[in-house]
Amino acid sequence: MGDHFRTVVDLDATATEAPRLAARVLDLLVHEGIVRAERTDAPFGNHLPGPHWDRAVSPEDTRWEPTDGLVVHTGRTVFHGGQGEPEWARCPRCAATARLYTDDYDRIDTAWEPFGTAMDLWYATGAADVPCPACAAAVPLPDWTWSYDYFAFGHLGFEFWNWPEFSTRFRSLITGALDGHRTVLVRGKL
Ligand SMILES: [Zn+2]
Repeated sequence: MGDHFRTVVDLDATATEAPRLAARVLDLLVHEGIVRAERTDAPFGNHLPGPHWDRAVSPEDTRWEPTDGLVVHTGRTVFHGGQGEPEWARCPRCAATARLYTDDYDRIDTAWEPFGTAMDLWYATGAADVPCPACAAAVPLPDWTWSYDYFAFGHLGFEFWNWPEFSTRFRSLITGALDGHRTVLVRGKL
């Protein structure tokens, strides 16, 4: 069994506001007792679980005490699910699905190419579009949605290592502290 992570990514925070929002959410999580204020150099998370870590997880999952902590990411980041790749990307304009794998699970390299190019450009510059193969709109890379929520492109993420499933209340708590920004949960394992 490997180590797994769940990362709450803010899709709206700009590079400028990310540090302020990161501090606000961390303060809240410490105040709630969900994580500890002090930073450690622990390999999986430098804010370890606090005395009330169970306030973050679904009631039925509280028997699985988290073993590792929280890493806060600020700055332009390609958040991704680690092992594997998404099978499709969905256009937010027309809701058509761009297939990235065939039914036989063969990678469609020609379909990947514009996304891969856009990812490099977005990482370098903070902006990149991918033309939708269905409606031809130039869609900003961060606006696409992915199978398994595999990718998220943003400037702020809260990465929890080896924690159980989060509760709806916890997601709302974070969203509230982020001024109602859109968030997505990227999960995966090493
Ligand atoms: Zn489209």
